[in-house]
Amino acid sequence: ESTQIGNRKATRSIMNEYGIHAKKGFGQNFLTDPEILDRIVDAAEVTKKDNVIEIGPGIGALTEQLANAASQVVAVEIDQDLIPVLEKTLADHNNVTVINQDILKANLPELIQQQFTDPTKPIKVVANLPYYITSPILMGLLASPVEWTSITVMMQKEVAQRLTAKPGTKQYGALTLAIEYQMDAEIAFNVSRHSFIPAPNVDSAIVVLKQRQQPLTVKPFDKQKLMGFIRGCFAHRRKSLWNNLQSVIDKDAETKEKMIKVLEQLELSPQIRPEKLTLSQFTELLNALYQENL
Ligand code: SAM
Repeated sequence: ESTQIGNRKATRSIMNEYGIHAKKGFGQNFLTDPEILDRIVDAAEVTKKDNVIEIGPGIGALTEQLANAASQVVAVEIDQDLIPVLEKTLADHNNVTVINQDILKANLPELIQQQFTDPTKPIKVVANLPYYITSPILMGLLASPVEWTSITVMMQKEVAQRLTAKPGTKQYGALTLAIEYQMDAEIAFNVSRHSFIPAPNVDSAIVVLKQRQQPLTVKPFDKQKLMGFIRGCFAHRRKSLWNNLQSVIDKDAETKEKMIKVLEQLELSPQIRPEKLTLSQFTELLNALYQENL
């Protein structure tokens, strides 16, 4: 479909008309590449059967394409200066609701119940994220009880690589595992900084997250504890697993002895680096430490 907003000429003229200056503090970089906008909607597989939540509509470039593709779009924008702009740029779309709110403070189940005509339709998140809060936004989406059909989001390329990293690589860490616990993550494509006004200082990538296809091979006794444990194990990523465990667990001699036994049982060398462990191994390790009351 045609792009009325997401191209360089229209974006410049909308910004001029409304006196909009991109706010760094809100991570505002507006997409101005119609092809990229198309590809995002394709990657998200948005259809007329879907409800879409967009985070940070900006001046509406992606919102417009989502409105064309989806049943209904609810767009949550923190910057109140953009609300009157969106009212105008999206005036032709009666299936879009713009909400002036901080997404990090939104009650997502309530928002879905209140804003969508049919809240039982699949719910997909699609966004060109404000990069300064990529992780908190993703963690907030995953912590909510909503079963997202998919989450398709643009972020800094370096963060996208962390989300999809394999064990043993330097990008692999607590964020990778927090995502892997619930979702299958894939980089759909990269986006050059020249596709935005203003151009960000980093290159970007689109990541698609879908509900895990394979159930977890090992279940933790407590999900929150597992996530905290993993963060603790990565606190000093250049140090050994053993060194990191010292700071998450008591240091007395008896505890150390038990810990050595647990590692032996799991065939983990104390000298191994945390980045070598898979999600199952972290889970087995925490479960075993828990059973030993450590
Ligand atoms: N979607 C537009 C586009 O692609 O051109 C704008 C994307 S821009 C990278 C990020 C948007 O998120 C901005 O409009 C910004 O104001 C908004 N934003 C920043 N922090 C937010 C928050 N906490 N809650 C909701 N929106 C936020």
